[in-house]
Amino acid sequence: MRVHTIAAMPGDGIGTEVIAAGLQVLEALAARDGGFRLEVEHFPWGSDYYQKHGHYIPEGGLERLKAFDAIFFGAVGSQQVPDHVSLWGLRLPIAQGFDQYANVRPARVLPGVSSPLKNGQDIDWVIIRENSEGEYAGNGGRVHRGLPIEAATETAVFTRTGVERIHRFAFELARKRTARHLTLVTKSNAQRFGMVMWDEIFYEVAKDYPDVKTDRELVDAVTTRMVLKPKTLDVLVATNLHADILSDLAAALSGSLGIAPTANLNPERQFPSMFEPIHGSAFDITGKGIANPIGTFWTASMMLEHLGEFDAARRLMSAIEAATASGVHTPDLGGRATTADVTNAVCDHIGSAA
Ligand code: ATP
Ligand code: MG
Repeated sequence: MRVHTIAAMPGDGIGTEVIAAGLQVLEALAARDGGFRLEVEHFPWGSDYYQKHGHYIPEGGLERLKAFDAIFFGAVGSQQVPDHVSLWGLRLPIAQGFDQYANVRPARVLPGVSSPLKNGQDIDWVIIRENSEGEYAGNGGRVHRGLPIEAATETAVFTRTGVERIHRFAFELARKRTARHLTLVTKSNAQRFGMVMWDEIFYEVAKDYPDVKTDRELVDAVTTRMVLKPKTLDVLVATNLHADILSDLAAALSGSLGIAPTANLNPERQFPSMFEPIHGSAFDITGKGIANPIGTFWTASMMLEHLGEFDAARRLMSAIEAATASGVHTPDLGGRATTADVTNAVCDHIGSAA
């Protein structure tokens, strides 16, 4: 029996609801498969925990997490704690502490789901987001608070090592897809240091991948291409900030923020990788039982793939698609189903899938 250890960290808001649903689906898959077992430990680190203890991650917390094969993360963010405190308190220390520099965000329109685009069926993208530096390096300062001369800097940091490894990762991933097409997204007309270096390193790395077609787009221009000509894009690689924005757009174009998954990978596997839905804690629907769990299920499928459970990962994707195709949709997709309805539908399909 293969055993995989999972650190479950629901976090805040609907994070707790979708992670509970995700674990239920994972249990169903393990039972159906029979070849593996998940050992799940729960970590209650979120904004309630922070308000009680004054920190999100207790001392030695990262050290404890390090022993796990994967981290299954919900969302962080609460109305009681400023967003920059919660994000820097929990999610970023894990992603940076475990050098999860490759953030992978697939987007496509699942069966039965309607896209706001007429040609939404043409969406089949993977957005690769640099996840360790860039605009979110945390580098900056603020002086003269409250005075008319108050000023703040927020300096993006790009290192050759950081840029080269994300490009290499993107080429490797693009190479495995049918279209084998990688689009470099930067803003090197206006930002002439870091962004120009991104472009240069991209073309250096490209020499090692003659089998991958490449093109280049400015980040503003690529948004129009995503909307008007979705079929012309396959894999996109962009900086931390740019890809963050593009992937919310991609999620909305593929039907809802509630269906989009993310993997935060440490590709060298020195440290655990972290899997989370794209969406945040969604206070407006917390506690109502209507959060769409599909993004978390898709995320779980990516986690299974990372753990080497390829059959279970595929079975989960088929079950998700069967459920969306049958019209069991939460309100964000225009339906009336609850989180539990969708979870049960997916579990039923797991049971019946060949
Ligand atoms: P973050 O800053 O953490 O990215 P956010 O402020 O961008 O969070 P979300 O919490 O993701 O916002 O929510 C944005 C909108 O999308 C909200 O109206 C929310 O209800 C909706 N939404 C997000 N996730 C889901 C989901 N899983 N199911 C249904 N609706 C969702
Ligand atoms: Mg957001």
